[in-house]
Amino acid sequence: MMQYSNKKIIIITAPSGAGKTSITRFLLAQHPQLAFSISAATRPPRGIEKTGVDYYFMTVEEFRNHIRQNDFMEWEMVYEGKYYGTLKSEMERIWQNKQVPMLDIDVKGAIHVQQQYPHNTLSIFIEPPSVEELKRRLESRGTETAESLQARVNKASYEISFKHHFDHIIVNDDLSRACKEAEQLILEFIARTD
Ligand code: 5GP
Repeated sequence: MMQYSNKKIIIITAPSGAGKTSITRFLLAQHPQLAFSISAATRPPRGIEKTGVDYYFMTVEEFRNHIRQNDFMEWEMVYEGKYYGTLKSEMERIWQNKQVPMLDIDVKGAIHVQQQYPHNTLSIFIEPPSVEELKRRLESRGTETAESLQARVNKASYEISFKHHFDHIIVNDDLSRACKEAEQLILEFIARTD
């Protein structure tokens, strides 16, 4: 049995394009006690993404094997045919390094993790200023096809309706303010000893 003083989990959730990746990167760069939780995913790598850094990229068959073996803390088919999931082994790896995992996951996955670990989880929902603004951001990122852009926009409106399930909501109308707000919440959470 491995011993951990406390197994905390931080979840940053938001619709795609709300800025959660920028906020997560800022926090990870500032605070070495935080570690990015690398998810398993079956979508292909984009640009310079690497397996074992951005995601553990795998085939659908490999992913389903992990489901069968109960290896996931949570998993979702986030987009049609594309699976994403948080491996239990990834949490163990980070806790063993005496760090706190930061999960950048979708709203449903975030709700599942919270339900499993209600006492040691901090969940932050990043809200885009509006759905129109979110669409503009996704377009300017230039990584989406017209079809996947529309899928992400539709999903965003649905996900925003779940914002009250989380411990905190941060409206990302100003990235540096949103980063500071998240930082403060996280530092308080990490310092907690209960
Ligand atoms: P992307 O394809 O843009 O990297 O990620 C798409 C969505 O999947 C994002 O909202 C991201 O937060 C979510 N996601 C990434 N990893 C996981 C995971 O392990 N579990 C769940 N439920 N969602 C994830």
